[in-house]
Amino acid sequence: MSHLGHIEPGSRHLLRVGMSPDAPPDTEADGDGAFGYAHSYESSSRYDGPGLRVVLFVSGCLLRCSYCHNPDTWHLKDGAYIAAQEVIDRLGDFAPALLALDGGLTISGGEPMVQLAFTKRILAGAKKLGLHTAIETSGYLGDRVDDDYLANLDLVLLDIKSSDPETYRRTTERELAPTLRFAERLGAIFATTVASGSISGTIGADGAPFTASLPYGIMRLVIGVVFSLGLILVVVGGAELFTGNNLIVIAWASGRVRTQDLLANWLVAFCGNAIGAALTAILMFLTTQYTFGGGAVGFTALMTAKAKVELGLVPALTLGIMCNTLVCLAVWMCYSARTTAGRIITIVPPIAAFVAAGFEHSIANIYFLTIGLSIKYGAPETFWQAIRRTPDDFASLTWRTAVFDNLAPVTVGNVIGGSVMVAAVYWFIYLRKASDLNSR
Ligand code: SF4
Repeated sequence: MSHLGHIEPGSRHLLRVGMSPDAPPDTEADGDGAFGYAHSYESSSRYDGPGLRVVLFVSGCLLRCSYCHNPDTWHLKDGAYIAAQEVIDRLGDFAPALLALDGGLTISGGEPMVQLAFTKRILAGAKKLGLHTAIETSGYLGDRVDDDYLANLDLVLLDIKSSDPETYRRTTERELAPTLRFAERLGAIFATTVASGSISGTIGADGAPFTASLPYGIMRLVIGVVFSLGLILVVVGGAELFTGNNLIVIAWASGRVRTQDLLANWLVAFCGNAIGAALTAILMFLTTQYTFGGGAVGFTALMTAKAKVELGLVPALTLGIMCNTLVCLAVWMCYSARTTAGRIITIVPPIAAFVAAGFEHSIANIYFLTIGLSIKYGAPETFWQAIRRTPDDFASLTWRTAVFDNLAPVTVGNVIGGSVMVAAVYWFIYLRKASDLNSR
């Protein structure tokens, strides 16, 4: 039997059976959600949603699961009384790492829905930071949750302790019905979302709705494999790619290509690639694909572009070096393949590795930065309302930062990676002696 007795709808006060002596008056507990009770937090979980998560454990739970390993979160006022803004500020310290690892905030407990206004405030704050948001809930208080609350959530981890009402009652001391009602409601929202094309957000870059539900490593790998199509088209189709052409340094070092011809090739290839990438981005902008999934595709594009211009000089340069080392190794390995299928197979692992590792590719970045900037300066008000952001939230993303803070260092890094780390090294190992003989 529960020692809480019957719970009136809407009542959270019955939870307060274990008030700490210094607990503030009830009116301060939730109200507008400016303050609430938190039990603890964990800064680097990989199990409570996609990517890397900060998990906030809030106090208060109506269930009494027989196997509960967090009974210290049962009583609301056993938690620490804390301002929602303080939680959001703390979360802001972790935001860059969470964004880089496609993670976010998960509110667990206890039961997040016990302190609806408090958790809603924190979720809205996390959204403002651009983070993925999730709650772990039994769903027992789902009837209390309005659509506004759900709009702040990307993921609901609904823990149905048992689908059998009797087992549920025996295990949790509560009824199963409210949880099932909430599950049905979530199911209806999911069906509507799929129908409106949200799942088509699988197209494109990291963080899209479908891929975000996969484990982080798998997600990056899948994106990497898809991305390798670009180099396959270049190599098999016989196109010119600036980054791959850094291998011409081998012919230059052997004295078969003049310096001015090498530089002219790079200049023409870079300009041609840049025009192609920028025009493709503008074309994609005109398709309004960025509005798909309630703006999720466009939001991801904006966050990707913003993260690129905020990298900093040294990371942008070194990520560029690492990237083109792998791209040029992929091209170099192609030379050993005898068939088209062999070439394709040799390309995929290095390209998947560079994308999975988050390295920076100048030509790909021209696409990502152009589409991000096009959205920032060209998207209509309805898009900004849908993602609940304004262009000011992406103040760091400008044409100037795109060129000078990302493209310039990344391009230099790409040249170093391709020309020095691969071309010069392989020339030195395999071709230097042949060059010496030819020159005698
Ligand atoms: S819902 Fe979670 S916190 Fe609440 S009693 Fe059950 S296991 Fe414990």
